[in-house]
Amino acid sequence: MAIQSFHPPKRTLMGPGPSDVYPRISEALSRPTIGHLDPAFIQMMDEVKELLQYAFKTNNALTLPISAPGSAGMEACFTNLVEPGDKVIVCINGVFGSRMKENIERAGGETIVVEDTWGRAVDPLKVEQALKAHSDAVILAFVHAETSTGARSDAEKLCRLAQEYNCLTIVDAVTSLAGNELRVDDWGIDAVYSGTQKCLSCVPGLSPISFSEKAVEKIANRKSKVQSWFLDMNLIMGYWGKGAKRAYHHTAPVNTLYALHEALVILQDEGIEQAWDRHQLHHQALTAGLEAMGLELVVPEAERLNQLNVVQIPEGVDDAAIRSELLTKYNLEIGAGLGTLAGKVWRIGLMGCSANQTNVLNCLSALKSVLGLEKDGAAAALAFYQSQN
Ligand SMILES: *Cc1c(COP(=O)(O)O)cnc(C)c1O
Repeated sequence: MAIQSFHPPKRTLMGPGPSDVYPRISEALSRPTIGHLDPAFIQMMDEVKELLQYAFKTNNALTLPISAPGSAGMEACFTNLVEPGDKVIVCINGVFGSRMKENIERAGGETIVVEDTWGRAVDPLKVEQALKAHSDAVILAFVHAETSTGARSDAEKLCRLAQEYNCLTIVDAVTSLAGNELRVDDWGIDAVYSGTQKCLSCVPGLSPISFSEKAVEKIANRKSKVQSWFLDMNLIMGYWGKGAKRAYHHTAPVNTLYALHEALVILQDEGIEQAWDRHQLHHQALTAGLEAMGLELVVPEAERLNQLNVVQIPEGVDDAAIRSELLTKYNLEIGAGLGTLAGKVWRIGLMGCSANQTNVLNCLSALKSVLGLEKDGAAAALAFYQSQN
C-alpha cells in the first residue's frame, strides 16, 4: 500500500509553542520558490532585517534570522561571543538557563551559576553579588521569559547591572519577543535571540538574532576561530550583510523566510506595543477564569508571563489523561510540565494569534468540562473582558 499525503488534524495550539499560524503566513509559504541570490529575494531579506529591528526595538546593524530554530540562535550567541577561558555568569531558573550553561561549557567558557527557584524570576540581588565577586566575568546570560516555568525576569534591571560591572549580556527572548515588553537598545542588550513559532505566530524553523556594536567588536577581536562553521557570524555576514556583495554561505530557507516576512508585516501593522498589550489582556482574562475555577498559578503575579500561564495540576488529577482528552475531544493542545515541574503543572500558552478571546473562553470551558469543575471560569473571563471595554 502506497503511503498517502499527510494531512494534519486541525488543532488549537495553546501550549509553549508552536502557536497557531496566521492563515496569511501559510499562504506566503506557498508562494513560488526563487533563488536565494535572486535580486527580488535579496530585497526581501533587507526588509526582514528592517522589520526585525522594529520588533526588537533596535538599530543594531547585525540583526537577522538564523536558518534554524531558537536553539540555533542560542548557540549562535554563545559560540560567537564566548571564547575559551571566558568567565560567564549564567542565571538558571528553569530548563533554558541550564541549556545556556551547557552552551557556555561547550564553547570553552567557565560558568558562574546564579540559581533561582523554578517559577520565580532571576533575583537581581544575587546577580549583583555574583558580578561583585567575579570582577573578571565578561558576560551575563539569562532567559527573559522562562517558558519552562512561566516566569518573567527584569531584563532591564539585569542589563543595567551587567553594564555597571562591564559585562556584555546574552538574553534569551525566544518566548518574550512580541509577547511582552522588550527593548533591546534602551535596555542595552548585547546579544539577543528569539524564535518564529512563539509570539510571532510563524512556522518553526528560524531564529531572529541581534548583536550590539560591542558584541560585534568582541567577535571581531576573537583570538580563536568560532568553533561552528555554520553559525560563525563573520561568515554569515557575507550572505546577510548590507551593501556588501552577497555570497553563497548556505541555501537560505527561502519559503520560510517569506513566512517570517509576512509575520513581521502583520506585527508591524498591529504595532509592537499593541501586541504586548493584547497578550497582557488575554493573559489577565485567562487568569481571572482559572482562578474563578479554583485553579492556582505557580508564578507570583508580579513575575508572570502573559504568553505562558503555568497552572498547578489539582491533587489526584491524571496529567496525561486530561491533556489527551483536551486534544481528542476539543482539538486543544496545552503543554505539559518540563524538568522538575513534569507531572505537576500545565503550561497554557497565549502566543501570537493564539492570544485571542475565543481561545481563552474555549480553553476555560474545556478545562471546566474535563476536570468536572463547578465554577464557570469562562463567565469570569467574559466579565473581565466586559470590564475592559
Ligand atoms: C522554545 C524556546 C527555546 C528553543 O527554541 P526552539 O525553536 O525550540 O529551538 C529556547 N528558549 C526558550 C525560552 C524557549 O521558550
